[in-house]
Amino acid sequence: MQIADITKYLESLAPLSSQESYDNAGLIVGDERTELSNALIALDCTEEIVDEAIQKNCNLIIAHHPIVFKGLKRFNGKNYVERTVIKAIQHNIAIYAIHTNLDHYKLGVNKKIGDLLGVHNPRILSPVNQKLFKLAVFCPKENAEELKTALFQAGAGQIGNYNECSFNSSGIGTFKAGEGTDPYVGEIGQRHHEEEVKIEVLASTHEMGKIIGAMNAAHPYEEVAYDCYPLLNQNQDEGAGMIGELDTPMDEKAFLKLLKERFQCRIIRHTNLLDKPIKKVAWCGGSGSFLLSAAKAQKADIYITGDFKYHEFFDAENQIIIADIGHFESEQYTIDLLSELLTKNFATFAPCLTEINTNPVKYF
Ligand SMILES: [Zn+2]
Repeated sequence: MQIADITKYLESLAPLSSQESYDNAGLIVGDERTELSNALIALDCTEEIVDEAIQKNCNLIIAHHPIVFKGLKRFNGKNYVERTVIKAIQHNIAIYAIHTNLDHYKLGVNKKIGDLLGVHNPRILSPVNQKLFKLAVFCPKENAEELKTALFQAGAGQIGNYNECSFNSSGIGTFKAGEGTDPYVGEIGQRHHEEEVKIEVLASTHEMGKIIGAMNAAHPYEEVAYDCYPLLNQNQDEGAGMIGELDTPMDEKAFLKLLKERFQCRIIRHTNLLDKPIKKVAWCGGSGSFLLSAAKAQKADIYITGDFKYHEFFDAENQIIIADIGHFESEQYTIDLLSELLTKNFATFAPCLTEINTNPVKYF
């Protein structure tokens, strides 16, 4: 197995094109064609993690946080970023980051947190806009089912928990084949009328190349007539944060206690308790203060995340409880998530999980 087998699979779930503009997810150090010895999964990639990879004979580190965010101009080992990259290169260890693209994946970082919180019906708190397109393709009636199957298999036609969604309308297509063509139906130089079906499907823009490729491969015509248009719709399957409900409403203090246990927090920084049970819960792993307004707008009783600043706590305005459980604490189970995703797809592969706690924040 090559490093590319791992990265391609992870990117089929969490495409690099779904990361935030400031991010640097992807293969940061190394050649993807390298034969994989084993992979070490961590939340952060530090020098200690590179040492652990050397010791465990792993030539790939899969980390949630990218070690490099902005361009490095010198490699003199003057800071931990340079030293980590230098050490990885010296020991032929590749570094791969799967960051905001994994945050935005519907079964990613936040789904894992939701499972730990025990909420049901988790949905994306802030779905992305304009990441969907509509494909309308015209094909002979007798080929329509086969073409639809190919489109669905390539990932088109998914709306929430429904798949194979399409709209089909019948009509007459016309064409006149020119010199040098080999028309599937009709004669060269004569206008042909064909009973066709117009198949319309929705799809994610990340999968456009794959879907158009599958369409061309399955379509009988030499020249496929199709339209691709961008949509303004939200994509409910991609975006930041999540929201869901507890099966049974819980007392506020009991819920905070549960949070503390599940996420092994030394401390939870929170706003005023509101003296009402917790039922609707919103959350975002990592630095999630930017989603407070979305959590308030959707009437969550509590918003759980990390990295809230002093002044941002005031924005709770006694309408919601903000619970800052810590950046590392909120995302620590991403390590297990990545391991689960990989072992589900590569049955004989057993990645190493880091034994180092990379949280730079200590509590006294
Ligand atoms: Zn993070």
